[in-house]
Amino acid sequence: MKFTIHTYGCQMNVRDSEAVAALMRAAGHEQAAPGEDPDVAIVNSCTVRGRAENKAIGKTGNFLAEKRAGRVKAVGLMGCAVSRLGADVFKILPGLDFAAGPRRFGAIPMLAERALAGGRELLELPDPDEIPGCMDAHSPGGFRAFVTVLLGCDNRCSYCIVPDVRGHEYSRPAREVAAEVASLAANGVKEVTLLGQSVLRYGRRNPAFGPQDPPSARGFSEPFPRLLEMLQGVDGLERIRFTSGHPSGCTPELARAFRELPKACRHLHLPVQSGSDRVLREMGRGYTRAEYLSAVARLRGTDPEFAVTTDIIVGYPGETEADFEDTRTLMEEAGFDNAFVFKYSPRAGTRSAALPDDVPAAEKERRDQVLLADQDRRGLKRNSRLAGTVREVMAEGPSARNAARWSGRDSGNRIVVFEPGAAPPAPGSTVRVKIDRAAPQTLYGTLAP
Ligand code: SAH
Ligand code: SF4
Repeated sequence: MKFTIHTYGCQMNVRDSEAVAALMRAAGHEQAAPGEDPDVAIVNSCTVRGRAENKAIGKTGNFLAEKRAGRVKAVGLMGCAVSRLGADVFKILPGLDFAAGPRRFGAIPMLAERALAGGRELLELPDPDEIPGCMDAHSPGGFRAFVTVLLGCDNRCSYCIVPDVRGHEYSRPAREVAAEVASLAANGVKEVTLLGQSVLRYGRRNPAFGPQDPPSARGFSEPFPRLLEMLQGVDGLERIRFTSGHPSGCTPELARAFRELPKACRHLHLPVQSGSDRVLREMGRGYTRAEYLSAVARLRGTDPEFAVTTDIIVGYPGETEADFEDTRTLMEEAGFDNAFVFKYSPRAGTRSAALPDDVPAAEKERRDQVLLADQDRRGLKRNSRLAGTVREVMAEGPSARNAARWSGRDSGNRIVVFEPGAAPPAPGSTVRVKIDRAAPQTLYGTLAP
């Protein structure tokens, strides 16, 4: 059969979709070409905010209309919205053939086959401790890959639905992760991004290393730095990234890992959510503003150009103008290299959903715009300091805006656009680029000898 997968949400969903595509191909199926009608259309959904869920449900509705018009034979939904809605997905989406929650994506080839054979309303809901057996399925090609190392989340921040839909925290054994990364590298992958909701909690709820694993050569006692050290040894691999971080994981040992492991990229996505201690306490984030800022200082202590990016929620219940100003000043003090701002969206069943959603939509919008404008100025200022320097850039390919130029990323995950010269570099190769000019989210330069 021919299939398509349409993905919403975070990198973990992108990774799950890639695994499903690999499993489908292994079962003898084929991805539909762009513009070609698939036999089976699959939507991978997000539910972290109401709007994200609505988009995925809307897209599934469009595929169901295609099905009624006879262009698609079966439609399936996977991902976080399936966990949240359970069997109700079949009421919300009449005609839907199958649905599988986030930790059950391994069942999708079987569900798709049964749906084509005439099955309907096939539902696979995982239990919150389930461990998928096919975590290492990858689609070939490309020089970058995502590797999920930590499933689920046990933090229970007041606003967040993720623990309800992605289940309990589980760390994959380090040897399994290392074998997966080694096999990716043997197939041409040069950069991996290790994924986990709170990835620095790797190996905390369940052990990731066993007695068979060799001790850390650098004497790391914490599991995450130890994992990084293990991956530093993978031949052919050049860069290791990971996301998302939490200040409690920004330990002296993690800083030492950044200093001593050249493959560890100088960037961490460290969601702060708010700069107000009162709001942080209400959210149950487990750190104060001062603790967050000292985590940032520790990271930048390893390299002054270490990039720190973040997520912010504006309009949390009861967020006052003073709380918002605290967020603005925190963002300035932290000197973020980039920031994603989200408007608070109540999610049924979370602790904060019981509080009145009392910041008006127009005010959430205003706070969003203020933070984005601040960040643009800050991003420009921070990037401008790099003008005149030479950055090591992993070349990706022609730039999306202007195909005559190429784009790539530096170790800090900054986008670098450059003139490729007479012989364009191979995608995935590392080039040296002299930075001529900066924009809030981009550096521009020319190839350096
Ligand atoms: N595990 C990550 C975040 C995962 S969700 C972490 O804790 O760092 C991605 C982002 O969505 C969060 O960082 C937060 O900024 C945002 N988010 C989560 N729930 C939200 C909600 N109910 N309303 C608005 N934004 C939300
Ligand atoms: Fe949600 Fe908090 Fe877990 Fe992140 S750490 S997924 S925000 S509960």
